Amino acid sequence: MHLDPQSFRDLDPGSRVLMGPGPSDVPARVLQAMSAPCIGHLDPYFLALMDETQQLLRFLFQTENELTIPVSGTGSAGMEACFVNLVEPGDEVVVCVNGVFGTRMTDIVGRLGAKLTRLDFEWGRAVDPEAVRSAIQGKAPKLVAVVHAETSTGVCTPLEDLSKIAHDAGALFLVDAVTSLAGMEVAVDTRGIDAVYSGTQKCLSCPPGLSPISLSPAALKALDSRKTPVVSWYLDMSMVRNYWGGDRKYHHTAPINMIYGLREALRIVAEEGLEARFARHRLNHLALVAGIEAMGLSMLVPEAERLPMLNTVRIPEGADDAKVRGSLLRQFGIEIGGGLGDLAGKVWRVGLMGHASSPRNVCLFLAALKTVLRDGGVKVGAGALEAAAQAYSR
Ligand SMILES: *Cc1c(COP(=O)(O)O)cnc(C)c1O
Repeated sequence: MHLDPQSFRDLDPGSRVLMGPGPSDVPARVLQAMSAPCIGHLDPYFLALMDETQQLLRFLFQTENELTIPVSGTGSAGMEACFVNLVEPGDEVVVCVNGVFGTRMTDIVGRLGAKLTRLDFEWGRAVDPEAVRSAIQGKAPKLVAVVHAETSTGVCTPLEDLSKIAHDAGALFLVDAVTSLAGMEVAVDTRGIDAVYSGTQKCLSCPPGLSPISLSPAALKALDSRKTPVVSWYLDMSMVRNYWGGDRKYHHTAPINMIYGLREALRIVAEEGLEARFARHRLNHLALVAGIEAMGLSMLVPEAERLPMLNTVRIPEGADDAKVRGSLLRQFGIEIGGGLGDLAGKVWRVGLMGHASSPRNVCLFLAALKTVLRDGGVKVGAGALEAAAQAYSR
């Protein structure tokens, strides 16, 4: 077959302002780290970097859990890793669903031959712990699973009550922290989380490709006392842990340069400090909401249940969803997300994740949205930037 190499362009994606549901803007330091020479996955220098990466991850997850590692794969690989390692055929598993990612959990649990109890909640609202308590009364689930930050709706579900309810029922508590980690407190140990996974491309501001996970001693005990082998060879933590732990036994080749990037992203988080980072996410969120409301638009989620890093804005009457997002990208280089499932065409998802959570992006987005809406003939209120400025000077 003839192929003309000249017909393939030089790589030049240009720059964007990534304000969607992920990936988020990646700082130059992370990209630079990723371009360091690729060395062997058993090279002593790399083994030391693995140890440091685990140390930094424990700091971020706020845990002493020994098994705290980045799974090779995106957030969904971490999700699958947690379920395949902890669930055996016939196990009772409770999944709380209030969006796309809770639904994805039920898909995985179904494939594992477990007995699934699916508890559905309104999309756009938090999971109600009392409803979970009464639904599992008299049951003996092995696992209760919930999404901390539902990226499909912009909802935060508090974890404390659910953790207690799960443990009172004798179950392990599994949490999706893909979007919350590094943007708000996850606090694995104080909240009694037994299994947690995240992703690199949301508030960590690293390219997609790794999924940090952490398993508690109770989760490891469940893994060690399985009667059947883990159905996924690649994600079997009883083997993977020997590579990240003492033995350094080859399992699969670590994605070396991705781990350089993650380590750099984690160093940036540690330099900023967790409290300061969470406060920055909250402040930029408040400024964005102030501006959105000044324009006369409204948020989907009630104030007390909103996420700081993912803002769902109701699409105003008369606005063309696809056209607005297209113009934001073309004219301003800004990427935002559309709605998913029942929320398609009804909301925009505006991310303020990690490096992208900045006053610069908030002001740019408010000005850009106003321009694009006005060009499309939608009436919007004045004073969005003034409202944001007031939020910053408060
Ligand atoms: C993005 C996301 C995932 C899936 O992660 P991928 O990296 O796309 O595989 C899972 N859960 C939540 C809450 C997410 O936001």
